[in-house]
Amino acid sequence: MIDGRRMVSVLGSTGSIGVSTLDVIARHPDRFGVYALAANASIDAMREQCLAFQPRYAVMAEEAAADSLRARLPADCATEVLQGEAGLAQVVTDAAVDTVMAAIVGAAGLPSTLAAAQAGKTVLLANKESLVMGGQLLMAAVRESGARLLPIDSEHNAIFQCLPASASTRPSLAGVCKVLLTASGGPFRQWSRARMDAATPEQACAHPNWSMGRKISVDSASLMNKGLELIEACWLFDLPPDAVDVVVHPQSIIHSMVQYLDGSVLAQLGNPDMRTPIAYGLGWPERLDAGVAPLDLIATARLDFEAPDEGRFPCLRLAREAVAAGGTAMAVCNAANEVAVAAFLDGQIAFTGIPGVIESILAQVPVLEPTTLSVVESADAQARQLAAEYIAGLPGQGGKTGLA
Ligand code: NAD
Ligand code: MG
Repeated sequence: MIDGRRMVSVLGSTGSIGVSTLDVIARHPDRFGVYALAANASIDAMREQCLAFQPRYAVMAEEAAADSLRARLPADCATEVLQGEAGLAQVVTDAAVDTVMAAIVGAAGLPSTLAAAQAGKTVLLANKESLVMGGQLLMAAVRESGARLLPIDSEHNAIFQCLPASASTRPSLAGVCKVLLTASGGPFRQWSRARMDAATPEQACAHPNWSMGRKISVDSASLMNKGLELIEACWLFDLPPDAVDVVVHPQSIIHSMVQYLDGSVLAQLGNPDMRTPIAYGLGWPERLDAGVAPLDLIATARLDFEAPDEGRFPCLRLAREAVAAGGTAMAVCNAANEVAVAAFLDGQIAFTGIPGVIESILAQVPVLEPTTLSVVESADAQARQLAAEYIAGLPGQGGKTGLA
């Protein structure tokens, strides 16, 4: 705390979640201060954010980006520029920091999220990949340090809101029989497999309801996002995978539900705007104005539901297989997916080639007990290497293929 305000370090500040987080913080200048901002390489956006929020620190992933930001900040700006993992570690562990928004995309977010949890901070978890990869380590760190882990992913935030406060980490003790994860179905919900073979990155990133970064947008189109969220729900709420059902709900108004033994189903509803779960995490246990338009149910008119089609969207099945295999299989699944999504966004493989990469790599990498961060990181590295080789060896590489 500084001057009675909670100090927040926003990791991934230039991304979709980061920008929404700063929007909510800016609405409550009396309650929150920005201690640090961190991003990969977006120097212009970071410079603007430093001028607007005057953080104590700004962290850039690469030295060159850090140098360039230093050169471009005016002399009277109080922000000190740090670099890389050491910089991230500092801004999540400093004594003045209360809350860390973990919104770096992908596996790159794991070390800083883990460090924040080990330091006993309130961790607002958007970076689902860190829980998918290192769930065992992250949950143990939370238990040992007394950190508070609040889910920002809209589905998990909804589940958290629908659970009694006394049982948010052990719903099995509170009469919960299932959680129902809602999925929009993504932009290809009604597309045939043949049409998806020719899908472009722009089509995959054109989500019908949410505006998000490109990686999670592709994951939403393939339903791997729901697969990662299934694993995320198992770790966050200490549930077996068969206690998590996926329900396709194209309007994205119900953000998820909890089903109780007595037949009750509690749901959290709202417009699809990430500022709602972000404000809930920032303000918890109080509610804050998030700047989100009130839900108009009459204008919404319909709430539809359908079962996911694992034939057209095999990624959901692959995530279930990874969670069933346990150990480092989830990190391997996540890494292979990250490589496959990057290859798709880069025009190297077809959209429908993504699950083939993951399936092949899951079958090749042995499953280990994820006892340390280095075990998880080496499984991640091995999966990335094999996925890159697999993609390079695909027939017609250089051209696209959906074959796997
Ligand atoms: P994004 O691509 O818009 O932003 C990613 C941010 O991470 C950027 O600021 C980027 O500079 C930063 N970054 C990337 N690599 C980095 C590194 N090595 N070091 C420091 N910073 C780095 O992504 P997003 O959509 O904001 O998603 C962020 C995370 O939140 C993802 O894990 C995603 O799954 C999760 N999430 C996003 C949404 C959403 O609506 N966007 C919803 C739920 C969960
Ligand atoms: Mg989500």
